[in-house]
Amino acid sequence: MKNETFCILPWVHLATYTDGTGLLCCIAKPGEKRTNLNDQTVDEVRNSDYFKKARLALREGKQFGACSACYKEEAAGLRSHRLHENLFWRNTLGQEQIDKLIEDTKEDGTIDNDVYTVDFRLGNTCNLACVMCRPQDSSKWYKEAKILSGQLKTGAKYEWQHKESVDRDSFEWYKNPKFLESFYEASGEMRQMIFAGGEPLLIKEHKAIIKELVKRGTAKNIKVNYHTNGTIYDTELLELWKHFKRVDLFLSFDGIDRINKYVRYPSLHDTVVSNLKKYNDNAPPNMHFKVLYTVQALNIYYIPEFVKWLLDMNLPRIADYKSKKNIDDIIHTGILHYPQYLSPKIFPPRVKRQITRKLENFILDYGDRINLNSIKGLCALMNEEDHSHLLNQFNDYLENIDELRKLNRKEAFKELDEMGIFKPARREI
Ligand code: SF4
Repeated sequence: MKNETFCILPWVHLATYTDGTGLLCCIAKPGEKRTNLNDQTVDEVRNSDYFKKARLALREGKQFGACSACYKEEAAGLRSHRLHENLFWRNTLGQEQIDKLIEDTKEDGTIDNDVYTVDFRLGNTCNLACVMCRPQDSSKWYKEAKILSGQLKTGAKYEWQHKESVDRDSFEWYKNPKFLESFYEASGEMRQMIFAGGEPLLIKEHKAIIKELVKRGTAKNIKVNYHTNGTIYDTELLELWKHFKRVDLFLSFDGIDRINKYVRYPSLHDTVVSNLKKYNDNAPPNMHFKVLYTVQALNIYYIPEFVKWLLDMNLPRIADYKSKKNIDDIIHTGILHYPQYLSPKIFPPRVKRQITRKLENFILDYGDRINLNSIKGLCALMNEEDHSHLLNQFNDYLENIDELRKLNRKEAFKELDEMGIFKPARREI
């Protein structure tokens, strides 16, 4: 087994897209012949050709095509998902157990060990239609996606024609009794579960899984991790979560008030804030929180206001700036890559300079309260490429969003408007 390519995940993990497609992990490409939990069991997916070939290749020190994201990260000098996961599972299971899993692998790559970790995107049911999202990830997008695919007048139209053409029947794979039965059968050794969606806390079958794991007595071994939009606070779940080893909630929040309402439409700022306070006051000690701020063209300028606002709320369970030294221990800032016309890279150099100056001044002025150096990386990412040719698509898209949702981008982002960002879109097609 050569360390240059080896990855433990094909032995211990199973990830899905929202439509039930089985994956080696959340960043791996799906197999040419897709596996899917709508009509296959957990065991059938984990012992499909895609998984078996991955095991054989990675064990023999060869690269596996579906894993190119990791090789690219490593070539760029970054610590890849593969390296992170190998270390995590070596520490969790021990090298001896990992060696045994590999030794027990049959000649053709088949395994019969339980699954230790899953990353399930439980369909696309969601109560929000965030501006950067799509029907594959939110059922709230169906109607508007259809309209956009007809109305846009720039290249963004083709993207929406593709997004709009989803198979609506494929997103309820987690209701399939065959899936559930095979999942419980393979879950005796479970250590880590990641749930995302859609909005996983809206899915009643998710709660049924949580209840069943408590009933089976395996919950105490399991760390559960959620990506949630913060609009749901469920006291029954709070009670159930007490039985788990650890629960981490990643709460998506992309701005204050008018910014959040536009970006995470129709999220109500007050509902999310009220839930943050309830979690802060009532969450059992095994629960931990982090805020996810997805950085895009519409909110990069407002990072300083958001950071100050969150820390000033004084919610120690959510944003404990007194014990945490770095802002990325409290707020995870992921940069948006798609759709490209919403990335901060679309701003012309003049606007990028203004934004960079504001963020750098914030780092200097506020840095004695908490280390903000990671914000420099966001400026570097914004400045690394010039995608200002996509500004027309950005305007085309937002003009249509305003019309469909009766919103006003110039009021929601008045500081960006003053920089001259919002211009009437020209017809390109
Ligand atoms: S090598 Fe990378 S892409 Fe492949 S399964 Fe491991 S973590 Fe995922």
